[in-house]
Amino acid sequence: MEEMQNSQDFIVVGAGIIGAMIAYRLVTHGYSVMLVDQGPPGGQASRAAAGILSPTAEAGSSVPFFDLLQASFLRYPALIEEIEEASQMHVDLHQTGVIQAALDDVEANRLHELYRWQKTKVAVEWVTSAQLKDLEPDMQHAVGALYAPHEMQVHGPKLVQALVRAGNHAGMVSRFGVMVQRFLTSKSGDVLGIETTKGQYRAQKAVIVAAGSWAQSILATLDEVRALPVKPIRGQILALTSDEVPIRHIVFAHHRYVVPKPDGRLILGATEDDAGFDDRVTADGVAQLAQSFHYFGPRVPQMHWQAIWAGLRPMAPDGLPILGPWPGRQGLYVAAGHYRNGVLLSAITGDLVLNWAQNGTLPPSGFLPERFWRS
Ligand SMILES: Cc1cc2nc3c(=O)[nH]c(=O)nc-3n(C[C@H](O)[C@H](O)[C@H](O)COP(=O)(O)OP(=O)(O)OC[C@H]3O[C@@H](n4cnc5c(N)ncnc54)[C@H](O)[C@@H]3O)c2cc1C
Repeated sequence: MEEMQNSQDFIVVGAGIIGAMIAYRLVTHGYSVMLVDQGPPGGQASRAAAGILSPTAEAGSSVPFFDLLQASFLRYPALIEEIEEASQMHVDLHQTGVIQAALDDVEANRLHELYRWQKTKVAVEWVTSAQLKDLEPDMQHAVGALYAPHEMQVHGPKLVQALVRAGNHAGMVSRFGVMVQRFLTSKSGDVLGIETTKGQYRAQKAVIVAAGSWAQSILATLDEVRALPVKPIRGQILALTSDEVPIRHIVFAHHRYVVPKPDGRLILGATEDDAGFDDRVTADGVAQLAQSFHYFGPRVPQMHWQAIWAGLRPMAPDGLPILGPWPGRQGLYVAAGHYRNGVLLSAITGDLVLNWAQNGTLPPSGFLPERFWRS
């Protein structure tokens, strides 16, 4: 058993996209950091993601959430350039553009409402059915669409690998295959470090819990009266191939989407099932996705089957991320609950943790953990 041979400024628990980004940002700003995961880096939800970076499709009608997504989106190009340079890896950032297609008038009205306020913030366009034929010839059945030509996609799993590689180059300590079992605490309850299956590790400044859907069970070992309200929501998602991929943009329709990847695959996702920690693919998931093939025109159902997989999105009751110091404990910070947008939100999450480390600045109050216990 390794003993307390390691003492870092920060210990980050969880090497998904959120933990890997936080660890990278801290280590490249002069802090000593240890990144710990019970499995390989990016082995859980972050492995499943489609890699869409779309504030316009994901914010719903919430303006504060749109602003958070957009702030993260704007950080992406420069951050990816830096990470690619530092890791000597490509992570496939592409400006594919995002089309939210309305397949009926009810959906067209909802999307046009979104368009009316989103156009005051970003360069979105309203596209008529006739104009849509030029953008996506196979979407002739849509009655209109909200189009965000500037929006992008990235390869989420490659981004996690690049962050770990760049972090290690900068001096980050990685411990993979190491499960965090509980926290080390002082008599007054301050968090001093972690106890793991491979020994104890101390954090001089803080332990940052970025354990996705598992964050709640780690925090529960502190015997808190207050449980972190994060639960897993399974997403099943599949890949198709063909000699010529019929869709050029990321297209959303009726709560499903397709993402054309640079390697020639078309990703089609995703279900939302409450199945606890079961991350296996089900027959019903396959059926739900297959029922949506025709939303994207006549050629998608004719494509060839390649693969199907699933992951567990960490969801809070209000669907928003939970970011900030854990109330009542020194030395503990939580970054979890990124639900459908962890890849997109990783950039702003890394910045918010870094700002807190550097000068104690808190994230906007609507994302703090204590929002669940305010009267
Ligand atoms: C089908 C699907 C499609 C998606 N598409 C997109 C998309 O297009 N765009 C987007 O932005 N987001 C997307 N998401 C959401 C995104 O994948 C998640 O929000 C994001 O991956 C969450 O990252 P995370 O690091 O918090 O969690 P995870 O990636 O789950 O990482 C948590 C890590 O913590 C580790 N861990 C847990 N417990 C312990 C312990 N006790 N000790 C040590 N380590 C531990 C786990 O092993 C794991 O590696 C999608 C999700 C799914 C399922």
